[in-house]
Amino acid sequence: MNDPVQVQVDRSHGLMALLAKGLVESSAQRTASSLGDRSKYIGMSDIGRALECPRAAVGRKLFGNGDDLAHQHDLPSLLARQLRLQRGHWFEAGIAHVFRQQRMPVIEQLEIVTSHHGVPIRAHLDFVFASTVGQPTVRVLELKSCENIPSTLYSSYETQVYGQVGLLHALWDQPAFGVHGEADRQGGSGLTFPQICREKFGVEMPVNPSEVDIEAWVLCLSMSNARAFGPYLPDDTMLSLCLNKAKELWLKFDASKVSGAGLDGVATANGFHPLCSWCEFNADCPKFDGIDQPQWSDTLARLKDLKARQDELEVEISEIEEGLRTAYALSDVSGSWINAGNHRFRVSAQNGRRTLNKEQLRLELSAALGEEEANALIARCESEGKPFDRLTVSRINKRS
Ligand code: SF4
Repeated sequence: MNDPVQVQVDRSHGLMALLAKGLVESSAQRTASSLGDRSKYIGMSDIGRALECPRAAVGRKLFGNGDDLAHQHDLPSLLARQLRLQRGHWFEAGIAHVFRQQRMPVIEQLEIVTSHHGVPIRAHLDFVFASTVGQPTVRVLELKSCENIPSTLYSSYETQVYGQVGLLHALWDQPAFGVHGEADRQGGSGLTFPQICREKFGVEMPVNPSEVDIEAWVLCLSMSNARAFGPYLPDDTMLSLCLNKAKELWLKFDASKVSGAGLDGVATANGFHPLCSWCEFNADCPKFDGIDQPQWSDTLARLKDLKARQDELEVEISEIEEGLRTAYALSDVSGSWINAGNHRFRVSAQNGRRTLNKEQLRLELSAALGEEEANALIARCESEGKPFDRLTVSRINKRS
């Protein structure tokens, strides 16, 4: 007779495998229909990626994102990657629904097609709003889904959005614009931006973009928070930087393709790069050059599990503590302890932690002593902790 626990494990695994398959297939379908064959051009996100890590950017061009089921046997990692990647599309669909419901004059997934010194370039703009009420206005909105909202925007996102708004401005009156057709909407290509606006909204945009107020914004969304970064204005220097980076990436990609050298010799990101753990090309990345000692594999897997449980426990602990604080507040026991079985609890007011605002101190001292003396005084009072050994464990994303 089948072991019921094992049957449940098998069924649960089956469900996860089904979900992973669906996610991979729908992602491939969406990419093909909205972005086309990404090995045939350089996109704005490729440029942002190349600024962070040329090797990862060339790898994506050569091999795609590697999330096909035939090459990925680690189901939990595949699911984690896919959920992370697809969250952005789901946010985009939800936000598009909101804009449509508000009847806002918005173009979704505006495509700009151009070339620079023979390098094919395409930009896909998530949302573009156009209005001729009062001053003609265009707003580009790029959505980014994040685990946590950053305090400052990543330079790769900024580069991407500078490229988008720069191309929109530079190619305004050229037949470089298009939108993909969808089930309920007509597509179109080879239009100028004013032609697209006339076709979609029946409005007449000026022929010259200098008469239009053009800005781009980046909207970062997490599961429970949002923040807008901007405005980013058309800027010739930033556009040249983007186009030159596109050319550099295309030449590297082409050279790797022609020579068959793969990613050999392509530069990696400098220093710590937060995306290395997620990178699909990290298994043989020279940045992590090392020796094999497979005997530590189980220990590292156990450490990973324990850390995951530690995170879960911390969430559970703070939920219970919050519940007890609320229960105490509702009990109206005026500072007394509440006894419960072998334990008791109480909530009491504590003074806030005192901290020293170093920047404020530096300013005050500079005003009294002059900047040089103030800095010297602060340096004399600073001390450095003892050096320590930091253990870094990072995941290897194997491609079979
Ligand atoms: S692992 Fe890090 S450094 Fe290596 S290719 Fe990937 S992102 Fe670049």
